[in-house]
This record gives sequence, C-alpha cells and structure tokens, in this order.
Amino acid sequence: MLVLVLNSGSSSVKFNLFDMTNERPLLEGMAERIGVDGAFHWTAGAEQDQRDLPLPNHESALLEVMELVSRRIPKGRCINVVGHRVVHGGPKYGESVLVTDEVLADIEAYSLYAPLHNPANALGIRAALHTFPDIPHIAVFDTAFHHTIPDYARTYGIPYELSQKYGIRRYGFHGSSHAWVAARTAILLARPLRSLKLITCHIGNGTSVCAVLHGHSMDTSMGMTPLQGVIMGTRCGTLDPSIVDLLIEKEHLNYQAITELLNKKSGLLGISGVSSDFREIEAAADQGNERAILARDLLTYDVRKFIGSYSAVLDGVDAITFTAGIGSNSPRLRAEVCSHLGYLGVDLDVEANRSAGGERLISLPGSKVAVAVVPTNEELMIAREAVR
Ligand code: AMP
Repeated sequence: MLVLVLNSGSSSVKFNLFDMTNERPLLEGMAERIGVDGAFHWTAGAEQDQRDLPLPNHESALLEVMELVSRRIPKGRCINVVGHRVVHGGPKYGESVLVTDEVLADIEAYSLYAPLHNPANALGIRAALHTFPDIPHIAVFDTAFHHTIPDYARTYGIPYELSQKYGIRRYGFHGSSHAWVAARTAILLARPLRSLKLITCHIGNGTSVCAVLHGHSMDTSMGMTPLQGVIMGTRCGTLDPSIVDLLIEKEHLNYQAITELLNKKSGLLGISGVSSDFREIEAAADQGNERAILARDLLTYDVRKFIGSYSAVLDGVDAITFTAGIGSNSPRLRAEVCSHLGYLGVDLDVEANRSAGGERLISLPGSKVAVAVVPTNEELMIAREAVR
C-alpha cells in the first residue's frame, strides 16, 4: 500500500510518500513560501532537488506534489490513501476519520481553538481533495491521543456552563508524536506498553510534556490551544491570565495584536531577545548573554517541573523519553533536566547521553527510572493511522 502524508501549514505543504509494505519513505519534501515567491524541494533516497517556482496557492503546490509523485511511484502502483495532519479535532474527534464534507466543516469550525493551524489544514485538505479526487483522505488529529485525559485534568476553573457551551477544556497536541514515542519506548524497554508509566517530552519549536499511563494520555502540558504549558520558541506557555488584561490596557493592544505577541514574539525569543532557535540560545548563553541564559534555564525548569508533577499524576514513572528537535539533539538540556530527578531514581548515563545517535536508552542499567531518546516520526504515525 502507498500512503501520501500531507501536512499543510499556512504557507507550506510538507509531503511524505510511504510504501507501507516495509514502512519505508519513498519520497519526502516540502512546497514552501506558498503565496509568496515559492520554493519546492524533495529527497528520494540519494536523489534530491531544490527549485524556486511560483506557487500562488495550495492547489498549485499540490499539483507540483502530484506531478512529482506520479513520476516517482513504482511501476504498476498508485497512491491508495492520503493521510492529513490536522492540529485540532475539537471535542468530537477522538480518532482519525475519513474526510467528508461534515468533517471538513468541523475542522474549519475548530479554527476557534487553533486559529493559526486549522484554517491552513482545511485549505490543504480542500486542495488535496481536488487534486486527488478518487482516493480516500483521512484526517489524523494532533488532539485525538489526548481524548483519554480524565475530566478533572482537562477542566478549567471557569463557570462550567461556559466550558460546556464553547468546548473550553484541555485538548492537548503533538498526539501522533507522544503516541509514537511511547510505543517506541516500550520496545526499547522490551516491556508491554500496557504495563508502563511514561513521561514523554516533545521539546522542539513547540513543546509539550505528556503523562502516558498504559499507552493512554492522562495529562499533557498544552491546553485548549497549543499556547499553554512549557515556554516554547515563540509561544509564551502558561501565563497568569491577568497579564493579558494588563498588556491589553497598558500597551493598547487589540485582540489580533495580543494573539500575535503571545504566539510569535514571546517564549525563548521574547525572553532572550536573541532567537527562537535553541541552538542560537545555547551559543549566546555560552558567551555569557544573561537573557539567553535565563531563557535556557527557564525551558529546563519548565520541563523538569512538568516531569515532577506527572510523576505524581502517574503515581511513579518507569521511563522519561525525550524527542523533537531540542529533546533529541541537546545533551545539555537533557542532562540539566535530569540533574534534579535523582529523588525519582533517575541515574543518567553521562556518556550515552553525550554521544550522538538515534533511538536509545541514556540511563545507567541500574537506573530505577529509565531515560530514553526517541526521534519522533509523526509522518509514519499518520501513515499508519491512514492505513488503519
Ligand atoms: P522541531 O520543532 O522539533 O523541528 O525543533 C526545532 C528546535 O530544535 C529549534 O529550536 C532548534 O534550534 C532545535 N535543535 C535542532 N538541532 C539542535 C541541536 N543539535 N542542539 C540543540 N537544539 C537543536
């Protein structure tokens, strides 16, 4: 079976083509700067290509994808299904679904909760339905994995009627990533997932920590939107809501300006004044930049704080797993986070943590709580969901 995975952002479409007989990616790439000046690049094994070309809209980008895919598809085969990454599935979708008119309308309606993501996801799906009309399209939601979070962990302390009326609650995100990482951690530990208490830390541009009990999400740091929780590249993470009132009043901000400030100008970028990119933060911190040091320390502190609270949620923990750009690639961040977890029984293998590599355990054999690095693979998870 061949599965095309599409991840449509506001100005880009990422694509992956998987041969599910061996789960190998045949092709991966991205159409970027849609509606601006347009760029298209892809790799297929050892081959690759990169071009500037006009991409006025998502449909033109998907036509390029289709043209490329049809050239690269093995003889006698065709795409059997398209899997779409959708950020918000609202209260309704606890599972991946076949895209219908109703599903598409719901995805657009849930822009209320993910204004920066769902409109672009829906746009991409519409263009893909037009470009690939004869095959099933499956929506795979970032929120779906977290539908198992109990009411007491997903309810906010506002009048209950308002929560019910508007669907205000914790939804959680990065679901495909947390599900992938939890399953791979169980394999690394050679234990059944259904027997494990895990804390998965997806630390990248967006960051979320998840408490996974027996394979099910019990709590996660992101909330109704991907703005809550740990400080992120440009997102603020958890705030006292009154800060928003103060800024609106004193800085004379309207709704759009405050949304922009909290989503695009805050987090590591806002604190450091250096960059949202953690490599640049680490480099500036190494040179003694105090605000970069503060930003770095705050990220470490936030992650450690969530690990502490989720070990209480789970009544213990068997393994802590790091993933995504920072979690997979920054030994220093992992060491700093783990340095205050001795009380839990975390005993980091300093050498294994420092050495480069993919999926692996980085705790000492006798560590009561295992620590692992598992590079995420959201695209393959989406492909598996589409097949399922
Ligand atoms: P992601 O959103 O998962 O792609 O992660 C992006 C983040 O990962 C950016 O902040 C990068 O600076 C960070 N990152 C990527 N590689 C490294 C690395 N080798 N060391 C530290 N941070 C990294």
